[in-house]
Amino acid sequence: MSMWSRRKFFLTSLAGSAAAGVTNLFARATPGAAASNGARAVTPAVQGKRPLIISSANGVNALGRGMDILKKGGDTLDAVVAAVTIVEDDPNDDSVGYGGLPNEQGEVELDASVMHGPTHRAGSVASVRRIKNVSRLAKTVMERTNHVMIVGDGARRFAVDEGFEEMNLLTEHSRKIWLAWKASTSFNWRPGIDSPEWKEKMSTIFSDTPADQALMAYAQRVIADPPTGTIPCMAVNEKGDISATTTTSGLAWKIPGRVGDSPIIGAGCCVDNEVGAAGSTGKGEENIKISGGHTIIEMMRKGMSPTDACLEAMARIARNYNNDKKKLATFHIFFYALNKDGVHGAASLWQNAYDKGRRATYAVHDGTEAHLVDCVPYFNETAVSD
Ligand code: ASP
Repeated sequence: MSMWSRRKFFLTSLAGSAAAGVTNLFARATPGAAASNGARAVTPAVQGKRPLIISSANGVNALGRGMDILKKGGDTLDAVVAAVTIVEDDPNDDSVGYGGLPNEQGEVELDASVMHGPTHRAGSVASVRRIKNVSRLAKTVMERTNHVMIVGDGARRFAVDEGFEEMNLLTEHSRKIWLAWKASTSFNWRPGIDSPEWKEKMSTIFSDTPADQALMAYAQRVIADPPTGTIPCMAVNEKGDISATTTTSGLAWKIPGRVGDSPIIGAGCCVDNEVGAAGSTGKGEENIKISGGHTIIEMMRKGMSPTDACLEAMARIARNYNNDKKKLATFHIFFYALNKDGVHGAASLWQNAYDKGRRATYAVHDGTEAHLVDCVPYFNETAVSD
């Protein structure tokens, strides 16, 4: 099978192996899914710590900025937005903000949301072009309008009116990967048969330099498995006030105008100041269908730990496919949560991260230093592609 053709997923571990050995009070017992006998919560009770800030793994170097704000008694929403702004500004993170992988037409389109627990407010933006810091834009929607969600060109114009700078968000890195994707999917985006390079279509995009060759190898991977990626970030301060944000460039090569879960309040971002916060990364469509963020908050309200609540949301996604691992292995999804006591947890559908050679992790800063913690996998096995 050609490296450029879409790879099929298969599971490396034994068929029928049970998921993670996790039990919770609410999931239905289903083969291969998180076991449920209604008798015990498997994730051990953990002592919470405040202040606390967590995010998806790509935020591990950014949480320190949020923690500094929390330690100085700053607002929790200011803390999470400050942290994710670092990732939005980073051209090397091609799943968020500047340098995000574009839609099928080569335009970067960003989605973001915020929720401020103490004032019970929310803001969000979707399908925004040419504006880099969309988490701050979502916060501006919350603070300066009577709306919760603004999309598309309206959001871009609103941003400009509010003093945000317009810019080209497509970096050379992302542009080349997009061109390679075009070449691999469309006959018209390759050199013609009368061209000396027609067999070597990639040589017109990537030069022989080691850097370009490495980029080509990376492009091959992301073309085979269209990547998702995002940063959800949530914080609880010393007093127990909670806020969250989620910001993303969404699914690479999406149809223009496609919106994922990240800007959907109650799916990609959810806060209840009496309970906790939840966020997600991965295939947003699956999260939207189960209102994952809201589901997790409601499970925590009933007393579930953040980890068990995340696993409950995952159980609903698996149920939507009758726990068919072949179908479920065509995507990946993660949930992250913290509660008012400063207990945190996360669940991944599969044991692996997007990079199949690594375990799924998330980032935690509880006042000492930011570090990565393993997600609890719903299926205790690795989904890999051939
Ligand atoms: N959840 C995001 C979306 O579907 C993407 C991601 O997290 O990878 O747009």
